Amino acid sequence: MALVTISGFPCSGKTTRAKQLKEYFEDRIQSAEYDGPNLTVELIDDDISHVPRSSYDTSALEKPARASLFSNVSRSLGPDTITIVDSANYIKGYRYQMYCAAREARVRVATIHVVAPPDKCREWHEKRGECSYKPATFDNLIMRFEEPSSMVRWDSPLFTIPWDEQPPFEDIWNAILKGDKKPPPAAV
Ligand code: ADP
Ligand code: MG
Repeated sequence: MALVTISGFPCSGKTTRAKQLKEYFEDRIQSAEYDGPNLTVELIDDDISHVPRSSYDTSALEKPARASLFSNVSRSLGPDTITIVDSANYIKGYRYQMYCAAREARVRVATIHVVAPPDKCREWHEKRGECSYKPATFDNLIMRFEEPSSMVRWDSPLFTIPWDEQPPFEDIWNAILKGDKKPPPAAV
C-alpha cells in the first residue's frame, strides 16, 4: 500500500522515528474511524537484512548489504502493507531504485528525512557505545550523504523532521493513505 523511506545521518534518530511512525500507523489502523483495508506495518532495517554496521566500511561490503536490504523491501511491498525502510538510504540512486520498485508494486511513497546536526549525531553515537560505526565510517556516511529533495519525484512527498521537533505524523499518514495524486501507474 505504501513505502515510507527513512533517510538521515548515522545516529540521527532514524530508528527512533521509524518506531514512532510504526506505532502511530498501527494506532490509526486500529482506530474506530479507520475503515480502509486491513493493513500491516512492516519495519525493514539493517538488522533484519543481516547488515552489520561494518558493512558501511567499504563500498565492496556496502553493495551486497544494500542489495539485501532492497530485496527485503521489494518482498515486503504490497497492497496490504505499509513498509517502513529504516536505514541510512543516503544514496540518491538507491532511493530512486526503491521508488521504482514501489511504482511497480503500485504502492504510494513518502520519504522522511530525519535531521540532526553532525555534532548531535556524534554525541549520540558516542553514548550508544556498542554497535557503533568506525570513526572514519561515521564521518564518511555524513560526508557522502545525498540529501533528499522534494524537487525530485522519487523523494516526494518529502517530510523533514528536525531532531527537536514533533514529527507531522498525521500529514505523513494522510500522504500515504490518500496521496496527493492518484497512485502511480505500474512502471513498464
Ligand atoms: P539511528 O537509527 O539514526 O542510528 P537512533 O534512533 O538509534 O538513530 O538513535 C541513536 C541515539 O540517539 C539513541 O541512543 C537515541 O536515544 C538518541 N536519540 C535519537 N533521536 C533523539 C532525539 N530526537 N532526542 C534525543 N536523543 C535522541
Ligand atoms: Mg538505526
